Amino acid sequence: MDWHGVATHAGARERWKAFVASRQDELGSFLQFDPALGAVDSASSGPLAGVPFAVKDNIAVRGFRLTCGSRMLRDFVSPYSATAVERLQKAGGIVAGKANLDEFGMGSSTENSALMVTRNPWDPGRVPGGSSGGPAAAVAAGLAAFGLGSDTGGSVRQPAAFCGIYGLKPTWGAVSRFGLVAYASSLEVIGVMAKTVDMTEKAFAVMRGEDPRDQSSLAWQPAPLRKGKLSIGVPRECADVPMHADVRKTFEKTRRTLKELGHEVREVSFPTLDHVVSSYYVIATAEASANLARFDGVRYGHRAAHADTPEAMTIASRTEGLGPEVKLRILLGTYVLRSGFQDEYYLRAQKIRTAIRMDFQKAFEGVDLVLMPVYPVPPFQRGSADADPFMQKLADIFTCAANLAGLPALSFPAAVEAALPIGMQFLAPAFGEDLLFSICRQLEKGFPSPDAPGFPAGWK
Ligand code: GLN
Repeated sequence: MDWHGVATHAGARERWKAFVASRQDELGSFLQFDPALGAVDSASSGPLAGVPFAVKDNIAVRGFRLTCGSRMLRDFVSPYSATAVERLQKAGGIVAGKANLDEFGMGSSTENSALMVTRNPWDPGRVPGGSSGGPAAAVAAGLAAFGLGSDTGGSVRQPAAFCGIYGLKPTWGAVSRFGLVAYASSLEVIGVMAKTVDMTEKAFAVMRGEDPRDQSSLAWQPAPLRKGKLSIGVPRECADVPMHADVRKTFEKTRRTLKELGHEVREVSFPTLDHVVSSYYVIATAEASANLARFDGVRYGHRAAHADTPEAMTIASRTEGLGPEVKLRILLGTYVLRSGFQDEYYLRAQKIRTAIRMDFQKAFEGVDLVLMPVYPVPPFQRGSADADPFMQKLADIFTCAANLAGLPALSFPAAVEAALPIGMQFLAPAFGEDLLFSICRQLEKGFPSPDAPGFPAGWK
C-alpha cells in the first residue's frame, strides 16, 4: 500500500488511525497524535497529498504542543508553524502528530525525555536511538510515512540507523530552522527519516530552500550530479575506533557491495577524527547554554509557584523544569565560555572544527563520497545497561563530524544482525544531497529498508 491519501481517504484514514492506536502504548512514539489538527493547514493536492508525517517535538506546528520533551514546556502550545512544516503542508502533507525526543535534543536514546518512554520497534527492551527516537520509531513501525527530526550531532541519522530506516542530515542552511527550538544553532539542521530513499528525497525537496525568516538559510544550489563509477573514501582512522563486531562486519560488507556495484573504494585520511567528540561537546554545550537561557520562567514555560525575588524565581523554575542531562550541558557550556578560559576550550574547539572541515575538503578533492558507520554499536538496551551517558557521547564520533563541517549525510539500513538493524552513512560535499540519494538508491535495490516486526505488510 502507498502512503498517498492515507490521511485523507476516510476508509484508509480510519484503518491507519486504528493501527497507530494499537501500537502507541507499546512504542510510545507520539507525545500528541492528532491528524485532524495536523490537516488544518494542508493543501488537498500536491506531491504529498494525504501523506501523514511525524514531527519531532522540538519543531513548531501551530496548535500542537511544543514540549521539547521537557517539563519546562510540557503545556506550551505553539502559536506558529516551522517553515519546513508549512512547506510540507502546502504540498499536501498532514501532520500526524508530535513525536518524542531526548529533552531539547540532548541525547542518543530518547531516554532523556521527561515525558514518555519510547521503545525500539525491533525490540521493546532496546532504545530507538536519539534524540529523534519518536519519529524514527513511528516511521519504522509504519505509523507515519516519514518523520522530521533535527540533527545537531547525529539525531536524525543515529535513530534512523537504530530503527532500520533512512535518515538525511541536509547541508547546514539547506532547510530553514525557523520554528526549530534551538539547541546548538551552528551545528543543526532539520532532516528527514523514511522507509525509502524516494520518500526521503520527496520530503526534502519540498522543505529545502531559502526562507526570509531564517537568515542562515540558503537557496538550493545542488552540486552537479556525478553519474557512473564513483570514488568512495573510507577514513583509515575508522579502523582504530572501538566497534561492535556486527557494526565492523556491516562496514566491511558495505565496502564489498560498493565494489561489486562497480565503484572504487579507497582509503582517505581523517586525522582529526579523534577530536570530533571533544570539539562537538564544547561547541554544542556553549551554544546550548546561550540558547536555553530564554527558559527563565518569565516569558513562557514552567514557572515555580513560590519565590521571593525574580532571580530566585528563575532559578527555581529552571531547577524544576529542566532535567539532569540538560542541566549538565548548560553548566558545561557556561564553564567553557567563562571569561579567561575561552582560549582553552571554546576557541580551541573552533580551531579543531576548522581542521575537521579542512580534512573533509582535502578528502573530497580525491573522492566523491565518504563512507562511515553511523554508531559504533547496535541499538542498545534501555536503562544504560550497556551504554552509560558518557559512553553515548564518545559514540557520537561518526555522526558529529558532518555537523561540525556542515556537510550533508545520509544514513541507510545496511544489515540486520542478531535481529537488529545496523546503519551506515555516506557524507558528501555541501549540496551533494542528490549524490547521496543516488548511491543509496543503488544499495536499496539489493537491500531495501528491512521491515520491523509488526510492520504492516506491503506498506512503503
Ligand atoms: N547525541 C547528540 C547529543 O546528545 C545528538 C544531538 C542532536 O543531534 N540533537 O548532543
